[in-house]
Amino acid sequence: MPELPEVETIRRKLEPYLLGRRLDRVEIADPRLVRPFEPHAVAAELEGERVSALERRGKYLVVRFESGRALLVHLRMTGSLRHAARGALHDDGYRRAVVNLDDGSDVAYRDVRRFGTWLLLEPDELEPYLAPKVGVEPLERSFNARWLAQRLQGRRAPLKAALLDQRTVAGLGNIYVDEALWRAQIHPLRPAESLDADEIARLTRAVKEALKAGIRRQGASLRDYATPDGGRGSMQDRFRVYGRAGEPCRRCGTPIDKIRAAGRGTWYCPTCQRLAT
Ligand SMILES: [Zn+2]
Repeated sequence: MPELPEVETIRRKLEPYLLGRRLDRVEIADPRLVRPFEPHAVAAELEGERVSALERRGKYLVVRFESGRALLVHLRMTGSLRHAARGALHDDGYRRAVVNLDDGSDVAYRDVRRFGTWLLLEPDELEPYLAPKVGVEPLERSFNARWLAQRLQGRRAPLKAALLDQRTVAGLGNIYVDEALWRAQIHPLRPAESLDADEIARLTRAVKEALKAGIRRQGASLRDYATPDGGRGSMQDRFRVYGRAGEPCRRCGTPIDKIRAAGRGTWYCPTCQRLAT
């Protein structure tokens, strides 16, 4: 599913198309997208809103309107957004919503698995909604070794599980957790509380580096992820460990191993990332 680098790529590409635009007409075809609210009611509320900013928090896209309201979009497993001239995008049966902008272009939302969500929030609702769900942004200065040490302290859960928790690091998912742990040379099943100061410093840097690498390559296109102009990311060709079981470690040549951790497929190098210290 799209993680921070994919959502950030979408944000950057969509921003110039959305800034200052008014939502003329909104069609929400799938009630699951906005439940428990009525699709027609949400669409009617969105019509006439003008976009003042497009932001990202963790894996959420935040469409801010001049009215102070915000539309919080989460793509979950297979959601994607496309932008094109009106009528240029074709409905393949997985289209869940279309927004007509006042410049004659459209933004279409497609979602095969239908886990994605759109939530329209009033001006004072955004921060209270996000605060308990999403921790600090890993590419900001506030994400540092001290923050990470605090978040891992006293947690016996495997590191992999602790890092997938959005309150630990906003926007990390299965791919970039594995990539960061390989860069930091730390085993995914190490108890979160067992890391020493040096390992936490390495992991802090590794998280930032893994995410930046993903953004540079415009994300990883494994299944449904595409950029708003229909392009693909190329991070999947540069993975250090993710999905590379049996292939040689790019650092030491040892075949990459795959295990399950936190209920997820997890890839690591048995030589570079030892469980016992
Ligand atoms: Zn290795």
